[in-house]
Amino acid sequence: MKNNILKEILSSQGKCLIIPHQSPDGDCLGSSFTLSHCLDRHGIEHHIIMDDLIPSNYLFLKKDNMIKSDQVSGTYDYGIILDTSSKDRAGTTDEVLSRCSHLLVIDHHKTNAYFGDTNIVKMVSSVGELLFGLYEEIDYKIDTNDAIGLYTSIVTDTGEFRYSNTTSETLKVAARIFETGFDFEKISQEIFSNQELKKVILKSNALSGIELHGQNKMALLKVTQTMLGELECEMYHSDGIVEAGRDISGIEVSVLLKEISDKEIKVSMRSKSYLDVSEISLLFGGGGHIRAAGCTLNMNLQEAEQTIIKEIESRL
Ligand code: 5GP
Ligand code: MN
Repeated sequence: MKNNILKEILSSQGKCLIIPHQSPDGDCLGSSFTLSHCLDRHGIEHHIIMDDLIPSNYLFLKKDNMIKSDQVSGTYDYGIILDTSSKDRAGTTDEVLSRCSHLLVIDHHKTNAYFGDTNIVKMVSSVGELLFGLYEEIDYKIDTNDAIGLYTSIVTDTGEFRYSNTTSETLKVAARIFETGFDFEKISQEIFSNQELKKVILKSNALSGIELHGQNKMALLKVTQTMLGELECEMYHSDGIVEAGRDISGIEVSVLLKEISDKEIKVSMRSKSYLDVSEISLLFGGGGHIRAAGCTLNMNLQEAEQTIIKEIESRL
């Protein structure tokens, strides 16, 4: 067996902090859940940092050991950062990170900055798939709770096994997860058939404002503060909108501009078959994967719109 840091953590009985990324999604929440469960089963003292609200369709992954950054006290032997490509995306403060003697990054982003003391970065579908590989190396036998976290992680990051990051290995891992006998129908319903009505209406409003650019190969969608205010939504309710733009026939790239303020626009990009959106994100200090990436533009919505349209149109 290779030198597996997870084995070292489990045998050292050191104190751990699990750190997902900001604006948590199914992959980082699912992988935090299974890793925490694995540490529980080995009697390892640990917490999960959760500063942001958990989207309601992932509340089944909430654990009692979740704390906020300002509740952290003392030091930790290991800080385990999941699904996070760069330090500024970690869901905690630099102060909390500095309390961890050893930072372990477990990630699958093409643009990972290798900012940990140890970095396990593999281009697999999801951190769930990567963790499953680490579990296998140390002969850790997953149970139904591990399966719930791993399944959530993999099914969400692969778009229900539709995206190009789904490989035969991903499906083999999924089969092994199913063999635990976990209630996958219940979990699928929690994730996909449990959306708040206002979230669905926000998506509908955003889609009715769609614009096409770049010879109709680019879909441009917006969620403004006004749109959120009307529905009493938070920005995390905009989850799923950018993918709906990509699902349109003839669209190669879908861009969602999320108005955080009149000086800050969060950009989410999804491509269908050839455009590398991680390259575009990197130009603006962001990152991600070939088919899913993002960045932040410090300008107003109109300027952001022009900037992104210009950059993408030249590549289509
Ligand atoms: P989303 O559009 O769902 O926010 O993000 C899509 C992918 O791009 C995710 O894998 C996410 O980690 C990455 N990403 C989004 N925004 C940023 C950013 O500002 N910086 C970096 N490095 N990655 C980002
Ligand atoms: Mn991920």
